[in-house]
Amino acid sequence: MARPFGPEALFNQAGFGIVSQESLKNQRIADDLCARRKPNEAVPYIMKAMQDENNVDIFVTATFLEPTYKESIECLDEGKRRASAILRRKYGPKALADDGPLIDKFSWNLDTRPYMRIMQAYVRMHVEYKKYAAAVDTIIEIFRLNRNDPLGQSTWLGSLLCFTARYADALYFAQVFMDVGAGRMHLDDLPPGGGTKFLPPRRDLYTAEEQRKLKNYEATILYTAALASFKLWGDGEEARMYLRLAAGANPKVLVKLLGRIRKPEHLTQGPRGINGPESAHDYLWLSQDLWMEDDVWSWISENLDAKKSVLMECGSEACNKEESTPAQFHRCSGCRQISYCSRECQKLDWRRHKPDCTHVQAVKAVGRAVAAGKPVPADVDMPIFTGDFSTAGVYMQEVPKTTKKANKKKKKKKKGKKEAGDGGDDGPIGEAGEDEAGKGSGEEEVRA
Ligand SMILES: [Zn+2]
Ligand SMILES: [Zn+2]
Repeated sequence: MARPFGPEALFNQAGFGIVSQESLKNQRIADDLCARRKPNEAVPYIMKAMQDENNVDIFVTATFLEPTYKESIECLDEGKRRASAILRRKYGPKALADDGPLIDKFSWNLDTRPYMRIMQAYVRMHVEYKKYAAAVDTIIEIFRLNRNDPLGQSTWLGSLLCFTARYADALYFAQVFMDVGAGRMHLDDLPPGGGTKFLPPRRDLYTAEEQRKLKNYEATILYTAALASFKLWGDGEEARMYLRLAAGANPKVLVKLLGRIRKPEHLTQGPRGINGPESAHDYLWLSQDLWMEDDVWSWISENLDAKKSVLMECGSEACNKEESTPAQFHRCSGCRQISYCSRECQKLDWRRHKPDCTHVQAVKAVGRAVAAGKPVPADVDMPIFTGDFSTAGVYMQEVPKTTKKANKKKKKKKKGKKEAGDGGDDGPIGEAGEDEAGKGSGEEEVRA
């Protein structure tokens, strides 16, 4: 969690570039011990890493080990104090002020990232302890620092506002972002605070053309709009429009709600594509309870439009059978993007589907490698670039690949595992409605 990722890690600019090697070394050992679930052994290394006043990230590691909410927050307070001091030293007394040099550059400027990781950790802690109002306040502060939502907090804010029954604010916030998606407003014209200086929400519909533009828009925003609109005005045209758009953008959320699949217990780790299964998983981790409330659930389950939009067709072209209930068919466990009514249909379709499936898996492997600050697997034959923003401007850098040798080794291992698993080359198959995200966190998802 505390680990710098992406370009910051690749090019070794972690921790403002000013944290001592000694402190970074102790932090890495502590992080590894935590990852291996040996927190007690990590404590002495954490204490040592903290001795360097420039180390901020260590407080993100430490906060997750604190036994109580109060202590977790105090731990982050100390990290925040240090990060603010470092920023003020470099950028002057107005480093964090509304009219300061860093406003709207937070997160993009590498120097600000440790500060933003602390902010993100606050949100996470507040949510873990169900302190939703405090989480809302922290996210609003993040939007003040950079209205462009560099940390993707817009995917959480709407639901958190709904948890605190601020449905009008949730809808206004969603409308600001949907207006950008619909082409009503340019991204450069986002108001300061990115829609967190709340006004009353509008009560109108998007035109057919605007709705077309919103088709693949960030689904968590669309779901927020649907839920908030329903809570404010009931089963009206607005709520139905938002729900239809949301279900179109990421049907996986609605599939799981309608299938009454058990709420995820953990967030996924690592990168995700927009509106992919990981996003659906994480959205439900936070928000599922809001949708399972009696009034809301009976609304979505009686909405035939929405229900119909999430039924899958069997991926075999010779079959094309449609599900009769959401999440009925088994999904290809390789790519999670295609469903089959039966093992036979998957076998029949495998020759056709295999190239797509392999490509999706390669793209995912690249995403995971970049996010972990690791080289890209050598057998991926596309150039991979990563962009970053700093005070010096935007720079692009090609991501190094692993050597062929190292990769071969890995491949061999993988192959062995696969053969032990399911034998033949008929394509991997998952459980009905199963989700990669759920598997990744070592859990089985069962229907309630
Ligand atoms: Zn079939
Ligand atoms: Zn597949």
